Amino acid sequence: MTLAVEITNLHKRYESGTIALRGIDLAVPKGQFLGLLGPNGAGKTTTIGATTGLIRITEGQVKVMGYDVVRQFRQARRQIGVAAQDLNFDWFFPIHDLMVLQAGYYGVPRGTAMTRTDQLLEEFGLGAKAASKPRELSGGMKRRFQVARSLVHDPDLLILDEPTAGVDVELRHMLWGYLQKLNQQGKTIILTTHYIEEAEKLCERVAIIDGGNIITEGSPKELMASMNRDGLHFKIDGWNDEAAEALSGFEHTFDNGELRLLVAQPEARLAEIVTRITDAGATVHDVSICHATLEDVFIELTGHGIDA
Ligand code: ATP
Repeated sequence: MTLAVEITNLHKRYESGTIALRGIDLAVPKGQFLGLLGPNGAGKTTTIGATTGLIRITEGQVKVMGYDVVRQFRQARRQIGVAAQDLNFDWFFPIHDLMVLQAGYYGVPRGTAMTRTDQLLEEFGLGAKAASKPRELSGGMKRRFQVARSLVHDPDLLILDEPTAGVDVELRHMLWGYLQKLNQQGKTIILTTHYIEEAEKLCERVAIIDGGNIITEGSPKELMASMNRDGLHFKIDGWNDEAAEALSGFEHTFDNGELRLLVAQPEARLAEIVTRITDAGATVHDVSICHATLEDVFIELTGHGIDA
């Protein structure tokens, strides 16, 4: 398996003494769409900074497309398009010029840079703003420009730090669609996010980071299933000992007319369980199917909500 990113035993201690990363290992195969989830201060931005070569690594190693980000900085950096959390533009040049400049920095010939810039600005709905300076753009446009600019040298790996923070729903959906398209075209994408829905929708794999450690990783489905929270809720009339006996193989509680039952793949077991209840002489009034969410996983593992 070819890896786009390979992080081995990554430690980061800032000069202030803060230990931001405590020995992270993370392998991201080429073509994967990975979400880095974690509460404020977990170490997400630091992980990204180490991967893009922007912060000095205290210990450990990061490789991007096989290049060591310290020893082979230029080759590694060329593989990466990054949209940082902060909007760090040169505010006084038109956005078209800024993109062409950035392409030049990565060694893209001027003609290609011009064509790509025009294409990307169009694709991100910024064609009419090509001559505007970043400070003349709305917040959502700045965010779009930032993602467009990160793509100007056609990198294989796209890293986005909170790409949809503070943007409206419509723009968020537009960016999601665009990121999915880029991923389908073969680009590896790593994003950090506070929006669980974003991770669930986009990411094939999620790594949850907390206190400078990766505490779990897997596909959203795997992580949700690992919670053991899937189940069925029923409203029941005529609950009796026979019904309780018929369900003795399942972890369940019955209280005040409501039966709560834990079972993996609840959809597949629903008919059988309803039959057991009705055969015992009880009546089912209402059924709901419950699944753990990625947010449940997050709260259970980190001990706090995503925005804590
Ligand atoms: P957020 O979701 O709030 O962006 P994060 O998961 O990206 O958080 P980091 O920005 O990586 O977290 O921060 C990890 C830890 O390192 C925090 O305790 C933070 O205060 C600290 N930290 C980050 N940057 C620096 C810095 N330049 N100097 C000192 N400490 C820092």
